[in-house]
Amino acid sequence: MASKVAIVRCSTYEADEVQTAVERALGLLGGVEEFVRPGERILLKPNLLVGATPESAVTTHPSVFAAVVRVLQGAGATLTYGDSPGFGSTAGAARKAGIAQVAEDLGVALADFSDGQQVSFPEGRLIKQFFLAIGVLEADGVVSLPKFKTHGLTRITAAVKNQFGCVVGLRKGEWHARMPDVERFCQMLVDLNRCIAPRLSVCDAVVAMEGNGPRSGTPRPVGAIVASADPVALDATLARIVGLDPALVGTIVYGEEFGLGTASDVELVGDPLEEFVVPDFEVNRSPASTTGGSKGPVSFMRRFVVPKPVIRPDRCTACGTCVRVCPVTPKAVDWATPGGAADGRPPRHDYGRCIRCYCCQEMCPEGAIQIEVPPLGRIIHRGS
Ligand code: SF4
Ligand code: SF4
Repeated sequence: MASKVAIVRCSTYEADEVQTAVERALGLLGGVEEFVRPGERILLKPNLLVGATPESAVTTHPSVFAAVVRVLQGAGATLTYGDSPGFGSTAGAARKAGIAQVAEDLGVALADFSDGQQVSFPEGRLIKQFFLAIGVLEADGVVSLPKFKTHGLTRITAAVKNQFGCVVGLRKGEWHARMPDVERFCQMLVDLNRCIAPRLSVCDAVVAMEGNGPRSGTPRPVGAIVASADPVALDATLARIVGLDPALVGTIVYGEEFGLGTASDVELVGDPLEEFVVPDFEVNRSPASTTGGSKGPVSFMRRFVVPKPVIRPDRCTACGTCVRVCPVTPKAVDWATPGGAADGRPPRHDYGRCIRCYCCQEMCPEGAIQIEVPPLGRIIHRGS
């Protein structure tokens, strides 16, 4: 049976407009009763990558969060919410994103994402156990509230990638170190989704992020709420909206292969997809892999081909975030001198050690790290 994806026009974050759009989207999918039953404990999983204001388009907008809360509470569910930010506390990120205030106003408790528990998943195609946040395990089900953005490693982040925040804190970095190539990293994400099995995803694509995402890109209106029970179908629909071949997105490719969902058998309901297409959306459409595809540090030749993170000294404030989040040991981005930031100079990359996970680019608070394709890589990419 085809997977239904609802696309509904929503041009602003004005509360009434978002509420109407979310209700219409869920109605098109058969009604909220398809996803929750009265009395169930449902965890809402917004994207709270870091503490950022709603206008920056880094996190799920509080209007979308509020609208989904009202619909699910109307269906009799008891709600909690949580995410594991790449940096800082969940509470702090939620406060800055405007979600904590909405949650407090509507009686949604913060779930425990400070600790987790090992979960066995024998059905995993690649990964057979995950360390998941207690808040996820205590819930009867998860409703995912992703934000549509570009991503250095996975090209886009939306429904499938959103569940990565169910892995607690520093353990996310461990996955990058264990899965240094994008193919296996995406396979891990797909297994993670099969393990968590979110019942529904309601994606905030009202204002998406293009360019240097997922933290330092540019807000770009798409004007849509996109919802589905199938995260693969949802992501494939978003890829089509921005003219990105779904076959280039590992979470979609392995999502289909591992049976998480479908990108090819999708029934679109709601407003016509053509009305939302943003052909010049700035996203990586290069057919070349975003990483080395090797098991360890990028192999010698590929170092000259694969996109690499580059620091712009004029923007760097020597805050040290990139050094802290780099998951490899020894660090592949580190201070030039043992004195660290004391001399005010930016950290330096060691591209021989760098696995191209782009965590440093993802978490740099100044947008000072950009992903650049080396000259040889540009020639090869053009050829392909
Ligand atoms: S995270 Fe960004 S601003 Fe901070 S030290 Fe690294 S490059 Fe500089
Ligand atoms: S330097 Fe950046 S891209 Fe390279 S391994 Fe460290 S965090 Fe990942």
